[in-house]
Amino acid sequence: MLLSYVNAHKKSGNAWQTYLAQIDRVIPYLGELAKWEQSLRHPKRILIVDVPIEMDDGNVHHFEGFRVQHNLSRGPGKGGLRIHQDVTLEEVMALAGWMTIKNAAVNLPYGGAKGGIRVDPSTLSMKELEKVTRRYTSEIGLLIGPTKDIPAPDVNTNSQIMAWMMDTYSMNSGTTATGVVTGKPVDLGGSLGRTKATGRGVFMTGCEAARRMNLNISNARVAIQGFGNVGSAAAELFAAAGAKVVCIQDQFCTVFNHHGIDITAAVKAHEEKGRIDDVANTERINAEAFWDVDCDILIPAALESQLTAARAQRIKAKLVLEGANGPTLPEADDVLNDRGINVVPDVICNAGGVIVSYFEWVQDFSSFFWTENEINQRLDNIIVQALQRIFEVADKLKVSLRVAAFTVACERILMARQLRGLYP
Ligand code: GLU
Repeated sequence: MLLSYVNAHKKSGNAWQTYLAQIDRVIPYLGELAKWEQSLRHPKRILIVDVPIEMDDGNVHHFEGFRVQHNLSRGPGKGGLRIHQDVTLEEVMALAGWMTIKNAAVNLPYGGAKGGIRVDPSTLSMKELEKVTRRYTSEIGLLIGPTKDIPAPDVNTNSQIMAWMMDTYSMNSGTTATGVVTGKPVDLGGSLGRTKATGRGVFMTGCEAARRMNLNISNARVAIQGFGNVGSAAAELFAAAGAKVVCIQDQFCTVFNHHGIDITAAVKAHEEKGRIDDVANTERINAEAFWDVDCDILIPAALESQLTAARAQRIKAKLVLEGANGPTLPEADDVLNDRGINVVPDVICNAGGVIVSYFEWVQDFSSFFWTENEINQRLDNIIVQALQRIFEVADKLKVSLRVAAFTVACERILMARQLRGLYP
């Protein structure tokens, strides 16, 4: 019923259709395990919740929330909570599917899940945002838990929102359940290094891919779409390594300087004003011109479905690092492949966040906390080794890194599925 509803909305650029097209492309490489492929196309569990809150002006508003557990074969559900005015069920299904693949691609003992609330958080006061978060958490309380499904930050959610979620779940269960969410403040069982972990993973996978292409990071030109948690942390690391970040696009503007933008100033402007349009020594360019910028590395780190086939024809970069989830449409993948442009796919490129979420969860269970140095080293090892394995599979099968990453991940997921067998 639900899937037939989704099929009725088939259109290019729909994230769930992108996810399904990516699954189609991996099936020929799964051998006997392909027998179980339908389990990748059917989310295990979907909860749609009504989130009513009293607004500051006394009116009651109802918001729609979702939690999708896509697959739990390899462990509890894991994946973030997104708060955005355009969130739809199909988008959350796709994001949950990509979490299943991502967690398996880097071999974390998790299934895949994702949550969403459809509201523009910039229209809410702090108090209203807290009420929305708490009521949503309470409504999805039947699904989440430290060994069941563990939310984390995603687009427009942060450590404060995780603290409210942890508190709401704890109040409802009569416990202090730090392990129910990750990405919490460090003072509440959060992990050092978590905030910058996704950007760090983008940088580390970028360095490994660049090394294999003989592309020198220390004089590479980088263009970044999105200057939130992922884009800004990646920008800082690339700039620190000597690369020139020549273009940044956020939701309000696109700024350019072919000598390289001062990233410290951009981060400061973003922190203080939430925008980057008046950073010194930058020129404002048209949003669509972002895709024509002369650069070596392009980092889509905003929302899905940004890299269309037409834009893929225009880009100048030799390497695309998918900081966002699902930024590239399947037709664009074909264009990039034909043009010999390497793409480090989202399911490995942005896995740094969930890897350190895993470290946070392990630390919460053992109540023993690691140093930032230990965390960063473990993250670097896991993500670079996982990418090396994906490069080997890509070479062996003569496929793109995306198909290789999906092959590695789907083999693990479907093997677990097969070993567990069907119940009853
Ligand atoms: N939202 C992040 C992602 O898309 C992190 C998820 C997590 O840490 O569970 O990978």
